Amino acid sequence: MIKDLARLTLWQRKRGRLRATADWHAQGVQTVVQLGDLIDGKNAASKDKKAAFQRVLEEFEGFPDVHHIIGNHDLYNLTKAELAAVFATTKRDPYYSFEPCSGWRGIILDSYELTVIGPDATKEAEAMLSASNPNDWRKPGVDFQTGLEGAMKRFVPYNGAVGDAQLKWLRAQLAEAHDAGQRVLVFVHIPLHPLAQQAAYRYTCLPWNYHAILSVLESTDAEVAAVFSGHDHSGGTTDHHFVWRGQERHIPHYSLRAAVEAEEPTCHATLVLSDAGLCIENAHACVRLLDAHKPSSHHS
Ligand SMILES: [Zn+2]
Repeated sequence: MIKDLARLTLWQRKRGRLRATADWHAQGVQTVVQLGDLIDGKNAASKDKKAAFQRVLEEFEGFPDVHHIIGNHDLYNLTKAELAAVFATTKRDPYYSFEPCSGWRGIILDSYELTVIGPDATKEAEAMLSASNPNDWRKPGVDFQTGLEGAMKRFVPYNGAVGDAQLKWLRAQLAEAHDAGQRVLVFVHIPLHPLAQQAAYRYTCLPWNYHAILSVLESTDAEVAAVFSGHDHSGGTTDHHFVWRGQERHIPHYSLRAAVEAEEPTCHATLVLSDAGLCIENAHACVRLLDAHKPSSHHS
């Protein structure tokens, strides 16, 4: 079983076709997870922004199983309902789970369930942001990071939060996966761990309530094999260690480098899932590959 991830933060006017997809076809990839920010927010001023999405989405044709995660740049262009139609995922909620192959469960999280971007903005999200960011973040041109230090830097409009219902759903999904003997992969636009992003901008790309999300991942018997995200353009990797029921456990977090930052267009990773575990190929997509997930001969 080959599972593929694409981090496709793409500014189309600068780039041509996504040559990465040719690699995926050559590898026999069956499932694609697009980690969000499919097109740049600058397209919002364009009349044909749906056409801009379509031009990139054409690259995903021919793959049997494609998953699109909503990023902030997507929301600068279209509403969630419009995105569901464009992505042809109208039967899916912004968060859901799927079975990429036997023994594995993929969990797609919506890190903009609470957002202040566009028509999907909610009063609850606005209150959450305003409570922790004293700046007039609604006003164009205002530096909404003024005065924010350390972990408070996450309280900016381009981040969002996972709501209570989704957290409850996540807890239940993990319990189901454990009962079914499935390992879990989590896919989400915003990195969930402050160390899984570039050091210069640490804490600036995090869900407002990242503690609550990590807490759910830390308090389950399910085996979470890895978390994959986008959002932070330079990307980063960390192995998050914690103790659960007296046992030392760990979850690797990977934020893939954005296509706009990549030196080559093959800005993606291929996950090979098997009974033996997870193996990540195309290591150049990640800033650093953790030893446990380096390709080895028995995963070919
Ligand atoms: Zn983003």
